[in-house]
Amino acid sequence: MLCRNCGRQIGDDVKACGMCGAKTGVELFGMPKTETETLIERQLKEKMVVTKRDDDKSTSILIISIISILVIILIISVIVLSRIIGA
Ligand SMILES: [Zn+2]
Repeated sequence: MLCRNCGRQIGDDVKACGMCGAKTGVELFGMPKTETETLIERQLKEKMVVTKRDDDKSTSILIISIISILVIILIISVIVLSRIIGA
C-alpha cells in the first residue's frame, strides 16, 4: 500500500511507514501484525501458561491438604464413635 503521509510504497502489513514513520492504521483494522509483535505475544502466552500451571499446582496442593485434613477428621470421628459404641 501507499503511505498516507509521504505517499511512498510500503508493506501492506506494516504499522508505520519505514520512510517517514507515519502510522498506517493497520492495527485498527485487525490486519496481520509484524513478526516481532507475534513473537512477543507468543512469549507472553507461554508465560501465562507457565503461570497457570503454577496456579494449578498450588490449587492441587491445597485440595490435597483439605482432603487429608477431612480424612484425618473422619478417622478420628470413627475412632471416637467406635469407643462410644464399645463403651
Ligand atoms: Zn511515509
